[in-house]
Amino acid sequence: LGKAETIASDTPASERIAIVGGGLAGSMLTLALAQKGYAVDLYERQPDPRTQGGRAGRSINLGLSKRGMQALEMVGLLQTVLDTAVVMSGRVIHAPDGSTRYQPYGKDASEVLHSIDRNQLGHLLLDHAERHPQVRLHFGHRLAQVDKAARTVEFETAQGRVVAHPQWMVGADGAFSSARRELQRGERANYHQEYLEWGYKELTLAPGADGQSVIELTALHVWPRSHCLFVSHPNRDGSHTLTLFLPFEGEDSFATVRTPEEITALISKYFPDLVRLLPGLIEEWMKHPVGSLITTRTAPWTFGDWAVLVGDACHAVYPFYGQGMNSAFEDCCTLVSALSANQGDTAAAFHAYEQARRQHTDVLCELSKENFVELRKKVQSPWFVARKRLDIA
Ligand code: FAD
Repeated sequence: LGKAETIASDTPASERIAIVGGGLAGSMLTLALAQKGYAVDLYERQPDPRTQGGRAGRSINLGLSKRGMQALEMVGLLQTVLDTAVVMSGRVIHAPDGSTRYQPYGKDASEVLHSIDRNQLGHLLLDHAERHPQVRLHFGHRLAQVDKAARTVEFETAQGRVVAHPQWMVGADGAFSSARRELQRGERANYHQEYLEWGYKELTLAPGADGQSVIELTALHVWPRSHCLFVSHPNRDGSHTLTLFLPFEGEDSFATVRTPEEITALISKYFPDLVRLLPGLIEEWMKHPVGSLITTRTAPWTFGDWAVLVGDACHAVYPFYGQGMNSAFEDCCTLVSALSANQGDTAAAFHAYEQARRQHTDVLCELSKENFVELRKKVQSPWFVARKRLDIA
């Protein structure tokens, strides 16, 4: 590891845990492990998001479901999060002629999803993790290299390279995980990734002049078309975050729709009911990036008694099932339980965790792909076809 400087620490390095990636999974796991008495170093390549004020670069809000709620319950933050969430009791399907159909999520009032703010949730987890004296948050630390034999992890910082010698490490650095790449180097490892030919862009459906939501607030809204798709999650201020899914290439795609006229024409053609509701459309379109969507499956997730992967680092899924963060949180619950059940045998705990989780996330990967097709198939349902007066869907 050359001249890299070694990270100083009062707790013996041999007793500290290194978590790489301070996204939702990394922050959740830092807090959960700290509550169990572990000394944790969290390394995140970005600056502290709590001092940035802006968006995290991914979706603005997320659908929280039962699996994610269990993890929040585990760290004692469920009620705090629910207090700031918007309940979604069902979904509203919008046909091209503007008519809508409501589909409740369940018969029971408890069968609902919650729309939550990604930034707020991330900040909350970091704030609570930081309250534990044995937790250290290292922002501006990008994982550069892992030496499994020497059990060292090397980071790039603005001041140069630093090396950590943790007792064990967690790769929570998302879909393009460097931890996964480094840990699987030289192993008999499988890795499969697929990019969707569609990208996404986020737009805002602002509240009306009276401050109220202009569409049903307490629901997920979907505008399915066979060529493109809008999905919206509600926010507490009455606005909705709309995500437009559209092909990258070809006719009516992110590549060809560029000018204000082309943007307005695209929305008018596929979503005529939305045009008048999006006064800030052009400005947001120009400002907001186009995101790409990736799905990955990989194995192994664990490396003896020294390293383990969680969240998108080991199972990134398309967002059409709304379970990426929820299943990343479920990983954290399962890993913490496995560590408790296998006290003193970290290798057994890691193995039990992977055995319990991977079969489910492999299925989730397939379900998320299928739901993309399913959402677009809505346009073929008899109700939808009857309303398809515009021959575009
Ligand atoms: P990430 O959130 O990607 O965090 C990884 C972190 O690691 C980042 O902070 C990154 O900066 C850091 N990092 C990366 N490389 C390095 C490095 N080399 N060194 C140090 N740090 C590094 N999920 C849901 O459950 N419900 C939804 O409704 C939902 N909607 C979605 C909508 C969209 C459009 C998208 C794209 C995703 C959606 N998801 C949803 C999925 C969800 O966003 C992810 O599953 C979740 O963010 C995964 O968390 P993570 O911590 O594993 O990864």
